[in-house]
Amino acid sequence: MKKISILGSTGSIGCSALDVIAKNPERFQVVALAAGKNIRLLKKQIEKFQPGLVAVGSKESALKLGEALTAKSKVKIFYGEEGLKEIASFPSSMVISAISGSAGLLPTLAAIEAGNDIALANKETMVMAGEIVTQRADKKGVKIIPVDSEHSAIFQCLEGNKRKNLQRIILTASGGPFLNFTEKQLQKVSLSETLCHPKWKMGKKITIDCASMMNKGLEVIEAKWLFHVDINAIDVLIHPQSIVHSMVEFVDGAYLAQMGVPDMRIPIAYALTYPERIMNDLPPLNLIKTGSLEFYKPDIRKFPCLDIAYRAGICGGTAPVVLNAADEVAVSAFMKKKIRFIDLPEIIEKVMTLHGVIDNPSLDDILQADLWARRETEKIIERMIS
Ligand code: NDP
Repeated sequence: MKKISILGSTGSIGCSALDVIAKNPERFQVVALAAGKNIRLLKKQIEKFQPGLVAVGSKESALKLGEALTAKSKVKIFYGEEGLKEIASFPSSMVISAISGSAGLLPTLAAIEAGNDIALANKETMVMAGEIVTQRADKKGVKIIPVDSEHSAIFQCLEGNKRKNLQRIILTASGGPFLNFTEKQLQKVSLSETLCHPKWKMGKKITIDCASMMNKGLEVIEAKWLFHVDINAIDVLIHPQSIVHSMVEFVDGAYLAQMGVPDMRIPIAYALTYPERIMNDLPPLNLIKTGSLEFYKPDIRKFPCLDIAYRAGICGGTAPVVLNAADEVAVSAFMKKKIRFIDLPEIIEKVMTLHGVIDNPSLDDILQADLWARRETEKIIERMIS
């Protein structure tokens, strides 16, 4: 019986993970859950999975949750950053790191510090602090198993193969809702169109990042740290069918690809049961019905975020931290309809240009750069809209 803690249990990944757990009660026990402010859903999850402890984003949310639960409930309630760390460091077989955004970094580090293995969905952890995270995990003997479908695919393709034979990683991308839009059409896209991903149902931030291709850029940086490869050895291919989740090329020219229906419950279950596989009730992949599998080169003129992210990844140091923070703030402004979709790359690029990169940053340098980039991005947006 594996003891599982989930950071971000009320989100898209958190709910899919709980679905996998609910269907395999003989294998998994939920010991701790953390969420932000969705108290209604968290209450239901507590009643169903009976964790010993939970954390929420704020004191107000903690009070609301306490009032909502029955007097019989014995669950301990924590809140804020300290609460997240409490959940992350509670002894468990695996912590699913699935909070959205940079808020996922410190709790993931706390889980590593406590010696808990990680199922990593929160790519921001690797984008911001890949070197520190991987070093600390190595030191503690903590396994980091990818949940992101592309990284899970690479992880699976590398199983049983020698790392020295790996030549290239090829991350696939659906291309998002605007794949075939012209630059002119992109100028007018709405928030609701951006939130309509053709293949995956995900949280809002990552869905917008998929549409701008920033998500793929963040994944390139995540792959660099997860698989210890040079950014120049990571390619991106547009694959609108989302059946090939990613592939690797070996030194002899052989390719291995991992395929499957696009459903996050597959890579989540694999991360939780690795190196075993378990059955599920998802419809099997039907390649005859799927028809052609297509692959295209990404158009970085239409989707400059991918190029900006590559440049940040190659530059290294605090550049990816700034990239990530600027993107989070700009996406949040887009969600509030303060800026247009096409403003996203322009704003992020401006912040990147203003930043003096620090090489080999400490955790403190990373947190400072994150704060700096947030303030700068807000200033640029304010100037843009005033
Ligand atoms: P969602 O927006 O659906 O969920 C985010 C979760 O994080 C919610 O449970 C939210 O709580 C919680 N949360 C956010 N901020 C805080 C905070 N400060 N303190 C505590 N809890 C917080 O995101 P997704 O599930 O889509 O994505 C999660 C992560 O996984 C992201 O890093 C994303 O890039 C990555 N990922 C997601 C995939 C997907 O298919 N969704 C695929 C691959 C990677 P609440 O809602 O209660 O406020």
